[in-house]
Amino acid sequence: MHIKFLGTGAAEGIPAINCDCAHCTRARNEGGKLVRERNAILFSLPGYELLIDCAPDIRSLINKYHITRLDGILATRSRYDHMGGIKEFEYWPGGLDFLAEDSLFEAIKREHWTEMLDAVMFHIPYYPGASLYFSGFSIIPFAARLRQPIFGISVKEGNARVVYTSDTPVRLTNYARRVMWQCDLLIVNTPTFDTVSGNHITTVEAIELMKRVEAKQMILTYINHKNKPHDELEEFVSQFQGVTVAYDGMVTEV
Ligand SMILES: [Zn+2]
Repeated sequence: MHIKFLGTGAAEGIPAINCDCAHCTRARNEGGKLVRERNAILFSLPGYELLIDCAPDIRSLINKYHITRLDGILATRSRYDHMGGIKEFEYWPGGLDFLAEDSLFEAIKREHWTEMLDAVMFHIPYYPGASLYFSGFSIIPFAARLRQPIFGISVKEGNARVVYTSDTPVRLTNYARRVMWQCDLLIVNTPTFDTVSGNHITTVEAIELMKRVEAKQMILTYINHKNKPHDELEEFVSQFQGVTVAYDGMVTEV
């Protein structure tokens, strides 16, 4: 499968609005990989283009990367940085599948939905632990956080298995760790480097997780301005085999 990172920033994006920290200032002055739009990842699967999450900037990302085909959108969380761009799809020509667990879909409908979206989207519910079968690939969602509807996914195509955690804390269920076990690629949202918030796994903790679940490769994404700038983060992870820091526009093949 082919995976494209359209947006690799956390909730604020980089540069963050009205922030004069060193990281945001560098991003404003130097641009390039220092700039991160909010979270959106495109999985190109057999006969199916699947967008994971729908950043507030999705309209400009779709134009920037010349995306002309989409079959479905999979939501991992209802918050603005994950789903704030969904109204842009009021103007999408044709129908789209909208994959979301039922309570997550209810939250998205309360916060972001419109009548015009009903004419475009077909809601397909998914359930944690239950495989969603497509011809040629399958997706198994898992709960990324207790008590809140936030989900990670395991995508399997042939023998290749990619796990995306979305917004997970370091405290994962044994089930989620088993889903990650020896996967070919683990993609982890790590907004901060080593500032423990309780809500999000850090970059340092994600590297421990990778070792613990014996993932073959790991890509770090959903980076915020309190984390290290891209070049410094890249230098840090270079000491760990198989770890890469995502940047906007990065493509990987599994
Ligand atoms: Zn900043």
